[in-house]
Amino acid sequence: MEEKIISKEDLLSLCKDVIGNGHTLITPGKTEYTVVKDASEIVLDTTAKPTKASYKTFVFPKAEPVIYYKRGKNDVQLLDVDVEEKKTVILGAKPCDANSFNILRHLFNWDYKDEFYNVREKQFIVIGLICKFSDEFCFCTSVGSSPVSDKGADIFLVPLDENNYSLRVVTEKGGEFIKGYEKYLKSGDEAKTKAVTDSVKLPEIAFDSKQVHEWLGTNFENPKWDGVGDLCLSCAQCAFVCPVCHCFDIVDEDYNYSEGRRMKNWDGCQFGHFTLHASGHNPRDIQGKRYRQRVNHKFKYYVDKFGEILCTGCGRCSRGCAVSIDIKEIVSNCKD
Ligand code: SF4
Ligand code: SF4
Repeated sequence: MEEKIISKEDLLSLCKDVIGNGHTLITPGKTEYTVVKDASEIVLDTTAKPTKASYKTFVFPKAEPVIYYKRGKNDVQLLDVDVEEKKTVILGAKPCDANSFNILRHLFNWDYKDEFYNVREKQFIVIGLICKFSDEFCFCTSVGSSPVSDKGADIFLVPLDENNYSLRVVTEKGGEFIKGYEKYLKSGDEAKTKAVTDSVKLPEIAFDSKQVHEWLGTNFENPKWDGVGDLCLSCAQCAFVCPVCHCFDIVDEDYNYSEGRRMKNWDGCQFGHFTLHASGHNPRDIQGKRYRQRVNHKFKYYVDKFGEILCTGCGRCSRGCAVSIDIKEIVSNCKD
C-alpha cells in the first residue's frame, strides 16, 4: 500500500498531537505496554525483547463488570455498563503482537458478539514496527508471520536510518487516521524500505503447522501429553501473557444481599478447576489433558473453526515459564 517517510522528530510531534487530541497512546515499555503521558519519553527499539505481557488487556481487561444488578422484593433490576469509546493508538507493536486482533476477533464475533471487545477494538489504531529481536523462543515464521510482516497493523514503520522511518499505510482505518497528520509525511522510497526489510534475519521455521494439525488429529491419546503434564505447574502464566489466549469466566459478586455486579474475569485452561463440573467430575482431571487442550486449541480446534492458528509465535509463554516448558519445542515434536 501507500508508502511515506516520516522523520523521528515529526513522529514525536505526531505523538504529541495524538496525546493532545485526547487519544490514549500506548507503547512497549521495558516490561509492559504502557500508556504514554509525555511523548518525549517514547523509545522505539526494534531490537527490544517482547514485553512480558501483550497489550490484549487494553481490549480485553483482566477483570471487568458486564452488568450491575439490584434485587427488589419481587424483581431484579439490571444496569448496563457503557464501554468507553476512546481512540487508542498502539505505537511500535511488534509484528507478532500486531497480528493478535486478527486472531482474537473471530472468537469475540462467533456465536455471541462481545460488545466490550468490539467497541474497544474498533477504536484501536495499531502502528506496527519491524522487529530485529530474535531468541530461541521466537517462532513467528512457523505460524505464518515474520518480523517484517505488516499483518494486523493499520500502519507499519521501518527505520530507514538514524533519523527517518518509512511509514506504510496498511488498512483503510490507518489511512483515515493518518489523514489528520499528513503535514508530517514526505514521499516514500519503497526500494530503500525493501533493502532494510530484506536485511532482517528471520527466525528459522521450526515446524510445519499443517503437519502439526494433522498429527494432532490422530494423537489425542499419545503418551507424550503425560510427559509434559508431569512437568507443568498449572499456573496458567502462559495464558495470561499470551496475546491471543482468551479464556474467561463469568462470576456474580454480591456487595450485599440486594446489590452486586457480574464480572468477566480472565481464566486459564491450565487451571485444574477450569473444567470442574458442579458434580465434582472433571473431564480434564490431570495436567497432561490440560496441556493437550492448550496445544490442540491453538493448533487444531481454532484452525478448524476459524482458519487461524491461535498463536502468533511470540514465545512469551515459554520465556516466562517457571519450569521451562517451551511450546515451540512441544509443537515441533508433534510428529511420530
Ligand atoms: S506451561 Fe509453564 S507457564 Fe504454563 S501452566 Fe505450565 S508451568 Fe505454568
Ligand atoms: S501460545 Fe505462546 S508463543 Fe503462541 S502467541 Fe501465546 S504466548 Fe506467544
